[in-house]
Amino acid sequence: MEAELQTQIAFHLTGRKYGPEPDGIAGSESRPALLARYCDLDALRYDFPVVLLSNPGEKGYVQCLSGIVDNVVNGMVRDDDAGRLAKHLLRLEREIRVLLSNGARGSLAALWDDAAGRLASQGDDALNQSLKRGRAALNVGGEVAGCDQTMPARLLEHAWVVVQQRKTRKLSEDLGRLTIKLSDILQAALAGSEAGRSATNLKAAIGTGHADVFDFEVLSRVLSKASSRDSLPKGRHQRIERLLSVLKSQCFVPMPGDGNGSGQHAYPFVFGSCADALAAYRERLPRAMELAKSMAIAELEVSGDYREDKHDAFFSGFGEGGVGQEELSHFPDYLICISADRLQAAESEHLMDILSAGLPAKILVQTNDLLEESPIAGDGHFALGMRSKQLANMAIGLNDVYVLQSASSNLFQFRDRIFKGMSYAGPALFSVYSGASGHTGALPSYLNAAAAMESRAFPAYTYDPSAGTNWASRFYLEANSQVESDWPVQKFDYENENHQRVRVDTAFTFIDFVACDKRSARHFSPVPRSGWNLSMVRADEYLGLETRGAPEKVPFVHMVDQDNALQRAIVDDRLIRAALRCRESWHSLQELGGIHNSHAERLLAREKKSWEEQGRQDAEARAQQVKPPAPAAAAAPVAAVAPAAAAEPEEKKSPDVAYIETPRCTTCNECTQINDKLFAYNENKQAYIANPDAGTYAQMLEAAESCQISIIHPGKPRNPNEPGLNDLLKRAEAFA
Ligand code: SF4
Repeated sequence: MEAELQTQIAFHLTGRKYGPEPDGIAGSESRPALLARYCDLDALRYDFPVVLLSNPGEKGYVQCLSGIVDNVVNGMVRDDDAGRLAKHLLRLEREIRVLLSNGARGSLAALWDDAAGRLASQGDDALNQSLKRGRAALNVGGEVAGCDQTMPARLLEHAWVVVQQRKTRKLSEDLGRLTIKLSDILQAALAGSEAGRSATNLKAAIGTGHADVFDFEVLSRVLSKASSRDSLPKGRHQRIERLLSVLKSQCFVPMPGDGNGSGQHAYPFVFGSCADALAAYRERLPRAMELAKSMAIAELEVSGDYREDKHDAFFSGFGEGGVGQEELSHFPDYLICISADRLQAAESEHLMDILSAGLPAKILVQTNDLLEESPIAGDGHFALGMRSKQLANMAIGLNDVYVLQSASSNLFQFRDRIFKGMSYAGPALFSVYSGASGHTGALPSYLNAAAAMESRAFPAYTYDPSAGTNWASRFYLEANSQVESDWPVQKFDYENENHQRVRVDTAFTFIDFVACDKRSARHFSPVPRSGWNLSMVRADEYLGLETRGAPEKVPFVHMVDQDNALQRAIVDDRLIRAALRCRESWHSLQELGGIHNSHAERLLAREKKSWEEQGRQDAEARAQQVKPPAPAAAAAPVAAVAPAAAAEPEEKKSPDVAYIETPRCTTCNECTQINDKLFAYNENKQAYIANPDAGTYAQMLEAAESCQISIIHPGKPRNPNEPGLNDLLKRAEAFA
């Protein structure tokens, strides 16, 4: 056993494996044990796929499939078969997920019909009836997007389009209105001019219908005598014609009648590189300024307020010293979608130029591989999305850039923040980890992205300069689970060697995230059960130990193989050090978010010390003034009061009573959408069981299964006569 321990320590310290490799991680489908329960993602209800709504409105611009199905179910008349209907539509939802996993793409309507067709072929009449009723009640549509590599750009572009349509609507309307009014001025001037009163022009104006009734030559002579007023002054006439020419030839927004209003003559504003976007912006800037200036002059012209002596000089300097920036803010923003691996020196420089100059750009930097080797350190050192993280940090340092960082698995939860960033009146940077590294075997991108966020490898946050003047209002970190902790802790159940169920609290750390990646096998050494010993400690505990000199413990992580058999794998020291660096970065973010803020904690410690000192001095002063009581009498009240106040026992939850670990709730709405009488939110917008009798045990269980962080414990059924209880109770065992 001692020799075995020495081998394990040697691997931990050097990363070199001695002897034959036991069956384990390398090349297998092993994954961190805490992810074992998510092996069949298609069977779970979660935030993806999402539907990019084709008619954005009150319902927002994006909805998740589960939410849409719930709305369809809730919107249908509640009757005796409501439960059956819900069950059938949940089967349809699952079928759509399966279709997407198998590569299907398309609109919600098309995928819905496809999935319904596949289920209908099973010949179940009741099922077919439900599917028909559900389809008739479906009242939203749009393209469906699963959590794959393309989703972040699709989702952000969709949000950008919705914002731009709203933003440029006023510009289009102003352009149309000014063009008509300026044209009217010219028309009126023409009608009052000699040319306008010519026989030919009069004939053209009256039209062919009455051509025989009028003598246009006579009419022209009469009108010429009757009006000697001169038409538009030449200078104004030329100015209006110039304005009209600029307004009609603009390419910034589509106009009605411009290629069927499709905007086919409009400039493109979506780019795949910062260099191209910057070049286009610079090239178009003179035309944008010219258009903004022309619109400002046109406003004065149509209201009759243009004064050449005053305005000519003013507008000749238009655009200098920032004049015109306000008008330019109504123009479309540039959307730039780039992959982090394309962010070489020049491109990064262009990106920072755009952000620091406050140009109207929204930039998505997508990272697909967080665990690529550091280009500088190499040899197993993780870069951890260094480029995109550095950019996000620098952007925050500019103070007036909207910054959003998130794993793709969290983008639906961040939909309102994405929209806010797209609507922000300034540059915005969106840094997204897609989870699609291509090195995680059968693990879906969604789970890999969620693991990156959960393990603090890629935490989610937003920095919104428009939200206030201080960090507390601008910086938002609360989307990360258990934000106060170093690592989020979850319950982990497994079967031990005596076939007994064991439940332990286990933290999901950076090491678990790395273990999802097939390239990381060299950092782990699987240990067969016969080699397990008391010197092995879980990696999350090991990370909290002070280690100096030769280690006496070796860290391991729990993994499961494709048969769900539990394994232990020793972790090498290099990965432990990477995890410690990851934790340090997380601590910095926590400080920005006001959590464990070192300045505040130092101040608090100082205040506490001075408060204690003051208390000590007061006690001494009192002791000198008052005669001390007998020792037994003095001790009694202290002993009677202090333990009761200090040790309030934590409420013990009965396994028979349903409850939610409310402080851990992430407000994902899953449970409240299932039954908002049974589940409700408290004042912190975290779920609790409002009325256990307001729903069925089946709903309770469905919510427990839908809850992504498994914090709903269904207890025992309230109604012993509820149908299918045996089956339900079996499913509920996982949540006891
Ligand atoms: S308790 Fe409800 S709202 Fe909270 S995380 Fe679970 S399912 Fe979501």
